Amino acid sequence: MNSIGSPFADDGGAMRNDLENLVTRARAARQNAYAPYSRYAVGAAVLAKSGKIYTGCNIENAAYPSGLCAERVAIFKAVSEGEREFTALAVVTANAGAMCGACRQVLSEFAADDAVIVLAPARGKRRKRVTMKRMLLDRFGAMHLRSKR
Ligand code: ZN
Repeated sequence: MNSIGSPFADDGGAMRNDLENLVTRARAARQNAYAPYSRYAVGAAVLAKSGKIYTGCNIENAAYPSGLCAERVAIFKAVSEGEREFTALAVVTANAGAMCGACRQVLSEFAADDAVIVLAPARGKRRKRVTMKRMLLDRFGAMHLRSKR
């Protein structure tokens, strides 16, 4: 992770506002988290290239593996609405926790190397910001399937 501390210190203007707006939307989505087992509420908001924002929360289930992370709920909502490319994702938890590996892989299907991921706490101004490339180094992707043999 990089840029822990002051939010988006190396950015000015529009990008910073977009990312803060995403964090706000992820915080709101977190209010809908269904997490009676872990009690770890997560909210996510993904920015599509179209300019639209899609949100998600984690949804747990008594049959644990049947639940889904907030990030994938948001991404799958967006893809099911026709989106295919994302430029930024914000995730809000109590402690600005990291994304799981499965969500990193799912995001990488639809995000370029320079897409931005922001991890934010439910309260406070601390941010962790990282690029897609850094979040999932040497990622597996469609290019590997094209060169099969
Ligand atoms: Zn996940």
